[in-house]
Amino acid sequence: MSKQLFKIAVLPGDGIGDEIMDACTKVLDRLLADQPRFGFSYVYTPGGAQYYADTGVALPESTLRACEDADAILFGAMGLPHIRYPNGTEVNPQIDLRKQFDLFAGVRPIRAIPGVPSVLADPRAAQIDFVLVREQSEGLFYGRLYPEMQPKGNDQEAFDLGRTTRAGSERLFDFSFRLARQRRAANPSKGRVTCVDKSNVLAGMAFLNKIFWERAKLNPDIVADHCYVDAMALNLIMRPWDYDVLPTENQFGDILSDLAAGLIGGLGMSPSGDIGEKYGLFQPSHGSAPDIAGQGKANPTAMILSAAMMLEWLGEQHQLPEAGVEALRLRQAVDAAFASGRVRSFELGGNDGTDAITAAILASLAQRLALA
Ligand code: ATP
Repeated sequence: MSKQLFKIAVLPGDGIGDEIMDACTKVLDRLLADQPRFGFSYVYTPGGAQYYADTGVALPESTLRACEDADAILFGAMGLPHIRYPNGTEVNPQIDLRKQFDLFAGVRPIRAIPGVPSVLADPRAAQIDFVLVREQSEGLFYGRLYPEMQPKGNDQEAFDLGRTTRAGSERLFDFSFRLARQRRAANPSKGRVTCVDKSNVLAGMAFLNKIFWERAKLNPDIVADHCYVDAMALNLIMRPWDYDVLPTENQFGDILSDLAAGLIGGLGMSPSGDIGEKYGLFQPSHGSAPDIAGQGKANPTAMILSAAMMLEWLGEQHQLPEAGVEALRLRQAVDAAFASGRVRSFELGGNDGTDAITAAILASLAQRLALA
């Protein structure tokens, strides 16, 4: 059987993007060095806030074409607080990519890794294992795409426009029910979808909630329930171990995913995948962390676990179980690297930065590969 070569568009971006991407490709190179069925060919492409400052565009046409041609997109981080568009908003090309490639589902797994301390003292924190599914094509971020809707020459008010469509909501919930079914197949205690909204106040959310219950009826094998976003902010602190799959509106997902990352060791531990019907982009949940960029303090784990999500997704897309096996091997290597509790990131008050954490993951990966 011939070896399949996947083309991966690599966008390191701004701030710590380069550092964590280097760590990630080192780990991937080791993981796949002797993999007979498939490998990766990387196409590095520019873009980001600094690129915008230098050239006037955040994502050049060549980058968009490279992403379009690729089998998957691996993305570091983009955006720098001091570089802004004329209307005062930050340059966030990742949001443009979500629109360009219709990456409607922001999948953010929140899983406690043994050996990584949680801020929660309750021992059940070790069981935290849920997934936020952030709607990314509409919601309260929608108006951002249409700056022309702001009244011109008006220094007294501004508008934010939200949008909720039937099609956008149906695909979000269908994706979430499918994901819950997959998770239950791997773990019988899973299989529950909780819609997070603010349907008691906002019309768009009431519509979203109505469609949730319509889709729940079509998925009677999965437990469906609902929670207002303010209550969910509380519940994610009080009893996060109770949840499984949490589909939610764009802005709410943005906020809750930072909160949720705090439960499992910080943003440096929190991977994500932006998934559409055709394209997949994989990036850590965090931003470019300019406060620590260039200091070797960035935790590359979220980036590396995002690459594991990419492997799993490629395996499903191409009916290639070997990619799923490598995803699992990579996740297990990450878990084993932290299991002793001796590896501690700067975010958690430790002294281990990018190099030390990458070395620990490479060492545990080498052990697993030697046993294979
Ligand atoms: P964005 O809005 O672009 O998602 P953000 O406002 O969430 O970004 P981040 O860039 O993610 O901001 O940084 C938030 C905080 O988390 C900063 O103090 C940063 O240093 C820290 N942080 C983020 N990612 C990491 C990482 N991989 N390792 C260590 N610390 C990180």
